[in-house]
Amino acid sequence: TVEITAIRKTFGEVLALDGIGLTVQDGENVAVLGPSGSGKSTLLRIIAGLETPDAGDVAFGGVSQRGIPAHRRDCAIVFQQFALYPHMTAMGNITTGLRYGLGLSKSAAEARAREVATVMRVEHLLARKPRQMSGGQRQRIALARALARRSGVVLLDEPLSGLDAQLHAALRVEIAAMLRQVGATALNVTHDQLDAMAMADRIAVINEGKIEQVGTPDDLYDHPDSLFVAGFVGSPP
Ligand code: ATP
Ligand code: MG
Repeated sequence: TVEITAIRKTFGEVLALDGIGLTVQDGENVAVLGPSGSGKSTLLRIIAGLETPDAGDVAFGGVSQRGIPAHRRDCAIVFQQFALYPHMTAMGNITTGLRYGLGLSKSAAEARAREVATVMRVEHLLARKPRQMSGGQRQRIALARALARRSGVVLLDEPLSGLDAQLHAALRVEIAAMLRQVGATALNVTHDQLDAMAMADRIAVINEGKIEQVGTPDDLYDHPDSLFVAGFVGSPP
């Protein structure tokens, strides 16, 4: 489980997160759905340990992550902007963290990279550098890199942004299936209502740093608690 309790975060005058609480069960995929600037990326960065909250706590499997640095947390993050290392091949991008973060040997890391690349259908791209790949291919590599860690928790920040409509629709299904297959506990950030509806077991609607409502896609669509939620998930008036 991922348990988020009363997370607060300010950047100067900006209150980015205002008391966020959310529990994600083992193997569950929860979408965090909200408009631009609502605090989605900040929340993921706090869960990953890349940002420190002003107040509140994050626990994985009942263990508080306070004071545990990002590289020691059992979670993998796919960033909004892919963030592949530009000077490294896809293979290098996938294996670096496995070797220097998880301590795998070069050959073990490469074997694992090939395995996950096969599943993501990017085996033929392993020798290429990011600039030699399309946006969709880069995104698959970024996803492969995250999944190769085999962490219990997978954090995805707008994994489908910047892709054309066809690729977007295809990857949406693929990613959801992949997360289910590896049994990942996933938080999946998006501003796209259809992505959230199609991919997630439950959706947490976030607005101005607060969670407005959490529920299954059907719950939110059929019984929105507020006009904001109704508007955002597209319930009929
Ligand atoms: P988007 O959908 O556009 O990616 P988001 O929901 O991910 O938006 P965040 O990036 O979490 O939003 O930002 C939440 C708020 O915090 C915004 O008002 C943003 O300007 C502010 N913010 C985020 N990071 C910083 C920072 N490093 N310094 C100052 N303000 C920040
Ligand atoms: Mg963001």
